[in-house]
This record gives sequence, structure tokens and C-alpha cells, in this order.
Amino acid sequence: MSDEIKIGIIICDRYSGCAGGKCLRALNNREGAFSIYKDKDVKLVGYTACGGCPGGNIEYAPEEMKKNGVDVIHLATGLVVGYPPCSRITRFQDFIREKYGLDVVVGTHPIPQNYYETHTALRTWESPKWKEIIQPTLADEETRLLYD
Ligand code: SF4
Repeated sequence: MSDEIKIGIIICDRYSGCAGGKCLRALNNREGAFSIYKDKDVKLVGYTACGGCPGGNIEYAPEEMKKNGVDVIHLATGLVVGYPPCSRITRFQDFIREKYGLDVVVGTHPIPQNYYETHTALRTWESPKWKEIIQPTLADEETRLLYD
């Protein structure tokens, strides 16, 4: 049996044209939310967008990824840093866990520094809930600057 971890990525539909450059770079470098896979083999088995507000694709996309053996679904960093951030993140998390029995991690690549500065000024992430949500992708400033 392989120890390889199979992951799927679901991005915010506002960035539906995104080619996944930052997510894939972070995956290769094990940065941001992918730092939990340091020293582990990881394979990307699915990549899609949420389908637009209110996120209708969240209902079905995990099923397709499950057929490819997905272990963990990552909700992309765009859900956290967009203006405004997605208000349904925790609902998506709860739904995917409950319905499909899959692990869900919020975040992919590190938060880019320019988003970090704007959201800090806006006090977007001051609540305990948001502090917890951004934790996997917060990274240090040096790393955040690499994702601007
Ligand atoms: S804000 Fe949330 S529900 Fe709306 S498009 Fe983005 S991820 Fe989907």
C-alpha cells in the first residue's frame, strides 16, 4: 500500500481562470497549507472551482475527487484572501467532512503579502475564528512576499 497522500483543490470561482500557479508552486515547495506534507509524497488528483456563490460545485466535486482516491481536500487560499473572503468556508468544511468523510484543510499557498497588508488594515481577520482559519497559510513575511 502506498503512503502517498492524494489531495484535491477547490478554488473560489472568482478566480476560475486561474491556472493554479501559486497553489502548485506551494505544493512543490511544501509551503503554506502544504507544509503539513513535508517529507511526504503528495499527488494532486483533482482541481476545480466552487461553481460561483453560493458554491454549488461543493456539493458534487468531492464525490468526483473521491473516485480518484482523494484523502484531503484543500479549499484554496483565494477563499480566505478575496474581497470579501468567502463567508461559507466553515460550512463547506463541515459539509465535505460530514457528507464524504474527507479531511478538509483551509488554504493552499501562503497568503500574499499585499493581501495580508490590506486585510490587516481592514481588520478582516481579527476574530478568533478568522485567526484560526488563516493559520495554515499565514507564513512569515519573507515567504508571503514570494507570493505577491
Ligand atoms: S466567495 Fe465562496 S461561494 Fe462565492 S465564489 Fe468564492 S468560494 Fe465560491
